[in-house]
Amino acid sequence: MKRVLISLAFALAALAPAAHADDNSNWVKPIKPYRVVGNIYYVGSEGLSAWLITSSEGHVLLDGGPSAEGGKLIERSIQQLGFQLADVKVLINTHAHFDHAGGLAQLKADIPTAKLWASRADEPALEKGQHFGDNDNGLTPFPAVKVDKGFGDGQKLKVGETALVAHLTPGHTIGCTTWTMAVTEKGRPLNVTFPCSLSVAGNHLVGNKTHRNIVADYRMSFAAMRAIPTDVVLPSHEEQGDLLAKRQKLLRGDPNAFIDPTELSRFVDGYETRFNQELARQQAANPGAKR
Ligand SMILES: [Zn+2]
Repeated sequence: MKRVLISLAFALAALAPAAHADDNSNWVKPIKPYRVVGNIYYVGSEGLSAWLITSSEGHVLLDGGPSAEGGKLIERSIQQLGFQLADVKVLINTHAHFDHAGGLAQLKADIPTAKLWASRADEPALEKGQHFGDNDNGLTPFPAVKVDKGFGDGQKLKVGETALVAHLTPGHTIGCTTWTMAVTEKGRPLNVTFPCSLSVAGNHLVGNKTHRNIVADYRMSFAAMRAIPTDVVLPSHEEQGDLLAKRQKLLRGDPNAFIDPTELSRFVDGYETRFNQELARQQAANPGAKR
C-alpha cells in the first residue's frame, strides 16, 4: 500500500507542474541542441529546458533536468555542440523542484570542477532533495545535491565575458530565481530573461506553515518580473514559451524567432490571473483559515 501511495504521489507530482498535465514523456526525450541568441545554447530535452551560457573562460549551465537520466541527456547535448563538460564552471538552477533540479547531482558527479550556486532560500531543499513548503503534491523527492555557494537577491555571476544577475522571484518555490543577462546578436544588444516559474502548482496559498509569506511573495514576484526589461524570454518548460515553435522558426532562418519585447509581461499577466483564481478558490475552500 505504501508503495502504491508513493508511486501515486510521484505520478501526481510529475503531472502537477506541467501545463499539458497528461503527458510528461517529453521531459527526457532528446532534441537536437541549438544556439538560441548570442552565447546562449539550448541543451534541454523536448519538454524541459536547460541553457548553456558559454564564455572563453568557461561555461554556466542553468537547470539540470528531472533525473539522472535528464542530467545525462544535457551532458550529451553539450558535447554534441562541441563543448567540453570540463569547461562547465558553474551550475545554477531556476528552482528546487525535481523537474529542474533532479539531474543536478548527476551533473555535479560527472563534472567535478563545476560549482553549484543556489539562492539561500532554495539551498535547504536542494541539499535535502525535496520540495520545501506545503504543497498538494507532497515532498516530490529528487537526488539531493550539495550547494557550493548560496546567494541573495542581486547576486552577480561572472565567468569570462559572461555576466548573469540573479533576481529572487519567490512563490512557486521559496527561493525561485530569475536570471538575466545581456547578449549581442548580429550587432544588436538584447536583454535576456530566464524567468522562474510563477505557477501555483499545488502550493498551499492559505495556511502554508513552511512558506508563510507565500501570497506576498508571489505578488512581489509578479511586480519584480514585470519590471525587468526583456527582449528574449527563455523559460524552464517548453509550453511556457512555445519553444519548439520558435526553434522551428529559427531553424528556417528567422533570426528574430526568439525576440519579443512584449512576451514577459504577457507571461506574468497569465500567471497572475491564474494565481488570483486559485487564491480565491483556496480561500473559499478554507473559510476562517489564517491567511
Ligand atoms: Zn516548479
